[in-house]
Amino acid sequence: MTEIAPPATTTPPQGRPVRPPMQRWPLSVLEVFELTPRMRRAVFTGETLDGFQHKPAQDVVLLLDPPGGGDPLRRHYTVRSFEPAAKRLTIDFVLHGHDSPAEAWVKAARPGDRIEVGGPRGRTVFNPAADWHLFTGDETCVPGVLAMLEQLPRGARAFAFLEVEDEDEFQIARSEADLALEWIYRHGPAAPSSPALIQRFKDFVFPEGRGQAYVIGETSTVRAQRHTLLARGLGKDQIVAEGYWRPGRQGGHDHIWDEAEGPPGPR
Ligand SMILES: Cc1cc2nc3c(=O)[nH]c(=O)nc-3n(C[C@H](O)[C@H](O)[C@H](O)COP(=O)(O)OP(=O)(O)OC[C@H]3O[C@@H](n4cnc5c(N)ncnc54)[C@H](O)[C@@H]3O)c2cc1C
Repeated sequence: MTEIAPPATTTPPQGRPVRPPMQRWPLSVLEVFELTPRMRRAVFTGETLDGFQHKPAQDVVLLLDPPGGGDPLRRHYTVRSFEPAAKRLTIDFVLHGHDSPAEAWVKAARPGDRIEVGGPRGRTVFNPAADWHLFTGDETCVPGVLAMLEQLPRGARAFAFLEVEDEDEFQIARSEADLALEWIYRHGPAAPSSPALIQRFKDFVFPEGRGQAYVIGETSTVRAQRHTLLARGLGKDQIVAEGYWRPGRQGGHDHIWDEAEGPPGPR
């Protein structure tokens, strides 16, 4: 394991905490297979993975070689599962249909291929203090939401809305929680400002007690869902919101926050 410096500025703006250096893990591919027609699973192993520790739904940053050489391209992917004893780390890749670096990489990946990842990182993690939990996202969030649902203790109250292209993308969710999971089938490609996901949040009846919402996915959808929750009385501290992709953006992620509250700290 080595460390790489964060790519962003080294001077933190106005007292924001500095992002800690990211640990780097050399991995090799054990197997790659089709999980659903539009989701490809890659299982990795690595000599140093016995030192890897993460919270469910945290991500790693894939460091991909650019075609012409130069600095690696960075792409965020959720750790779908990690088995420490076997040193097996699993990532599920959405095939979103662009001729893009991460998608091309997983389509071509074969056992024995090598890649480095950095991390883990990410603040979209389970809050055990909440009385109920509300998860939502599109296909890029299915790995993270399913990982969090698997972690929920027996008796926890959870609601999840997952939007995917069609019924072929359905996956079995394993959870001990008292779970109401709704799959929303779009019958078309992923698009910004998903009407179905936004409406589902408007209709959602808040249960008794203090809730925690985990709102991830396409940036404009996430922003609209967050505003809906705030308008309906949920506090900012009860909502974790992050844009996992948006049209035209290459890699990276979008923090969703109000101008008034300022940017959040490092993730
Ligand atoms: C914290 C975090 C965790 C994530 N976890 C996962 C995960 O577990 N599995 C997963 O598949 N993705 C995940 N994503 C999303 C993934 O990082 C992006 O989809 C990424 O852009 C894919 O890289 P790429 O090289 O294929 O495409 P890029 O080069 O980044 O983008 C090329 C083009 O494709 C478009 N595009 C990218 N993603 C999508 C999409 N999902 N649907 C439609 N168009 C798209 C872009 O807007 C751009 O126009 C995660 C993102 C974050 C921030």
